[in-house]
Amino acid sequence: MAESTHSPIADVQPGSHKGYMRLALSVATRSPPKPTNYRVGAVAVDPAKDEVLATGFTLELPGNTHAEQCCIEKLARKYSVTTEYLSDALPDVVALYTTMEPCSLRLSGNTPCVDRIIAISNRIKIVYVGVREPETFVSDNSSYRKLFEAGIQVVHVKGLEDDILQVATAGHEKRA
Ligand code: ZN
Repeated sequence: MAESTHSPIADVQPGSHKGYMRLALSVATRSPPKPTNYRVGAVAVDPAKDEVLATGFTLELPGNTHAEQCCIEKLARKYSVTTEYLSDALPDVVALYTTMEPCSLRLSGNTPCVDRIIAISNRIKIVYVGVREPETFVSDNSSYRKLFEAGIQVVHVKGLEDDILQVATAGHEKRA
């Protein structure tokens, strides 16, 4: 994919939701292809300054880590706090871009990304999503409703679905 061959930050137009989603997609391409999960990319943005605060991709950090989880952990490192105190450290409004809707259930028993996002919902006010999660591993992901109930707006950034799914399922067995 062309986006991954040069600096992803440079591709982002100020205030461009699709630009940030493209950045999240290029971040996702850095995730190792595996049959057991999706390659997802996430980007946290300070909309007031039009500044990327942190990025994350599936399996970026040690363990069975998800993109949003890595992004949030890296935010905490950036502000030198634990995730528990992250909401106090963040700018007033943070937007999170993720290529695939955040998970609301993890078969591994790990904290779902939705709950990690909701834990800092006094700062993360809006989540931009590229595609809904295909029902390969978990059916009926209820993340949209949970986010909405926590007062977080969910916006679908259209137009990159095919690329996002191609990147997300790169390690999966191809259907005949
Ligand atoms: Zn997740």
